[in-house]
Amino acid sequence: MMNKKVAVLSGDGIGSEVMKQALRVLKKIEKNFGHHFECIEKNVGGAAIDASGEPLPKDTLEVCEQSDAILFGSVGGPKWDHLPHEKRPEVGALLPLRKHFDLFANLRPAGVTKPLRHFSPLKNEIIGDGFEYIVVRELTGDIYFGKKSGDDETFGADEMKYTRPEIERIARVAFQTARNRRKKVTSVDKANVLSTSRFWRKVVQEVHTQEFSDIALEHLYIDNATMQVLTKPHEFDVILTGNLFGDILSDESAQISGSIGMQGSASINTDGFGLYEPMGGSAPDIAGKDKANPIAQIICVAMMLETSFGLMEEGVSIRKAITSTLNDMYRTGDIFSEGMKKVGTQEMGDAIWSRL
Ligand code: NAD
Repeated sequence: MMNKKVAVLSGDGIGSEVMKQALRVLKKIEKNFGHHFECIEKNVGGAAIDASGEPLPKDTLEVCEQSDAILFGSVGGPKWDHLPHEKRPEVGALLPLRKHFDLFANLRPAGVTKPLRHFSPLKNEIIGDGFEYIVVRELTGDIYFGKKSGDDETFGADEMKYTRPEIERIARVAFQTARNRRKKVTSVDKANVLSTSRFWRKVVQEVHTQEFSDIALEHLYIDNATMQVLTKPHEFDVILTGNLFGDILSDESAQISGSIGMQGSASINTDGFGLYEPMGGSAPDIAGKDKANPIAQIICVAMMLETSFGLMEEGVSIRKAITSTLNDMYRTGDIFSEGMKKVGTQEMGDAIWSRL
């Protein structure tokens, strides 16, 4: 029996609708497996700006600090678009949370199951029976955070840099993730050109030899990797990469995975503390209309159970319930096609809940 505290930040737009379904699933897991999850709901993003003038109020941050994980919905919307950049819900809430908790590892699963393969831009013969891999992207270092210079006239420059501890800790996350999966890591860099990448490769290799020799390790250049995910997605299990290359690879992977309403992501730190959020935004165009797909948010619950709490069986039971619901033809608008059963957010949640 496990006792955990979860900070629930639904945010704006479809956030509260999809979160409601995710929390029902969490409650069902609690009952089925005899755990206790104390969920504390707090304002974040536009909703928090409306209530208290701040996108990440102090009491919200305090509850996150006292919790074992953060279940995040999505933030932002036209109502707050006029605000200065740093006050906007996305910038003023998510970035400070990542920084405050040192969430250096971004885990983005990618994949397509056979029943949904027509939503992927990849050809059927490439997808076959489906594919599934995960991108582990370093989130707090690299060229995005290096020294910046330039004079607006003759040059602009950004320093690309990784230190040994930064590489070691993200490599460990990738190898550890692979250990619970198909035991293969592909490290992506540009070691033929960049000295940062040559150092990256050396350190990844060392961590592998010293701590994870049971995992298969291969290295790919970023230009080759962007092609390989399009032509041989089955070859990948865990892709380990830095911030810049990971930005590109994780978006490319999201694109070939089909609907954004199906994909969750995790950002974690060395203690395994994590923030779990859907890849999509607050979808103002469908908010409040019972149209949003709750699967991405429900996947976030599975990822939280597996990654932060080590509850693998519980996570798998959620994934099985989702697959079974999709096999029974339940579809929200974003994944609907002729001959399927069209349902809203609530009914999709019901169908998954009842299969748990
Ligand atoms: P979006 O992801 O909200 O929407 C893009 C399209 O995907 C829309 O057509 C939307 O209806 C659809 N969609 C997204 N999630 C869906 C779901 N669960 N089910 C069905 N359809 C879904 O992106 P956007 O329109 O560019 O942004 C809207 C707002 O969200 C903006 O304010 C943006 O800044 C914010 N945003 C927040 C986050 C975050 O909180 N992490 C991420 C991205 C965008």
